[in-house]
Amino acid sequence: MSDCIFCKIVTGEIPCYKIYEDEKYLAFLDIYPWTEGHTLVIPKQHVEWVWDYPELGEYFEVVGKIARHYREISKDIVRSNIDGWQVQHAHIHLKIGKLSDLNPKQGDPDILKSTMEKYRL
Ligand code: 5GP
Ligand code: ZN
Repeated sequence: MSDCIFCKIVTGEIPCYKIYEDEKYLAFLDIYPWTEGHTLVIPKQHVEWVWDYPELGEYFEVVGKIARHYREISKDIVRSNIDGWQVQHAHIHLKIGKLSDLNPKQGDPDILKSTMEKYRL
């Protein structure tokens, strides 16, 4: 989809702080993080809603792998949610820890970079 931000992240047209990538999925840091390591896990194929994606089980396995990896590194809980208020490309949020900044500001590039290096899979 030519006007989709996340499709542009998939093609590399828009840069991201990449956590994980394989043939079909991509995980990257949210640039307005609610928590440390706030991550979006997406299928590379453009579908609007998570429930539109044809290989949901496989998609959730990838999300689970990343969440368990975060739990191991952070020694903290990992929460998740599915919204889709802003971006119409299926994505699942992962958030480390209990506390959320409910009014997030754009993440500091140095912090995002060091978070990426800490959690990258
Ligand atoms: P939702 O659609 O589930 O409400 O949230 C979409 C999320 O995407 C938001 O948390 C927002 O900060 C994030 N987001 C929007 N544009 C970009 C972008 O260009 N890069 C990254 N990394 N995250 C983005
Ligand atoms: Zn898209």
